[in-house]
Amino acid sequence: MRIVFLGPPGAGKGTQAKLIVKDYHIRQLSTGDLLRENLNRGTELGVKAQAYMVGGNLVPDSVILSMVGEEFQKPELSAGYILDGFPRTYPQADGLDQLLKEQNQSLDHVLVLNVPDSELIRRLTARRSCSECGHIYNLVFNPPKLDGVCDHDGSPLIHRSDDTEETVVNRLKVYQNQTKPLVDHYKPQGLIRNIDGTGDVQEIYQRILTALK
Ligand code: ADP
Ligand code: ADP
Repeated sequence: MRIVFLGPPGAGKGTQAKLIVKDYHIRQLSTGDLLRENLNRGTELGVKAQAYMVGGNLVPDSVILSMVGEEFQKPELSAGYILDGFPRTYPQADGLDQLLKEQNQSLDHVLVLNVPDSELIRRLTARRSCSECGHIYNLVFNPPKLDGVCDHDGSPLIHRSDDTEETVVNRLKVYQNQTKPLVDHYKPQGLIRNIDGTGDVQEIYQRILTALK
């Protein structure tokens, strides 16, 4: 199973991708997570990406495509994958088409998770995630049992520096202008599965399972 996950920041892609990965035994490839790992390790790629990420702007396509190209060489992806946060522009979608062609692969589904902007801002400003295992929390909708600490491994939770209201508003604009139009790239191939991303996590997950059948 090969899936592209489209949806604005805060729509719940990471939360839902983790559930899909468990049930379908496929890998999650999140370009945001990969970039943050590079940033934390202080790699050349991380240094290049930092200024874009802090302002909520897209990292240049060439940087993203070479990073994803490297990931595609890894055997772990051979059982299938869910691309979370990639592609985000037309050149990235073209680059993905090329990578798929080289590996004689095709996509099975493009999930589009839809949530109104007002709800996205509420979700993102209250998002926290585990610094070790990456588990995603929300101070309002899905708080940890103990303040600031991961339920699973006791590690401290982090508040992403781009999850402030000001940056979120820019990220939503960037999604509308540059990423949402990708629906038109995948529509002619019959791959688009629109999912209502409002309601509780399990309810949304059931909608996704129905769409993947
Ligand atoms: P994305 O990967 O699309 O940016 P996340 O999965 O990180 O989104 O979710 C963003 C925030 O919204 C997190 O704090 C998460 O806990 C919360 N969240 C996810 N799904 C829901 C939901 N159905 N209802 C309320 N909050 C949610
Ligand atoms: P969210 O889950 O909230 O949508 P991500 O973790 O996917 O956010 O991305 C965080 C930031 O990383 C983006 O605002 C952007 O700067 C950068 N980024 C991630 N993926 C891409 C991509 N495919 N192309 C360009 N920039 C990206």
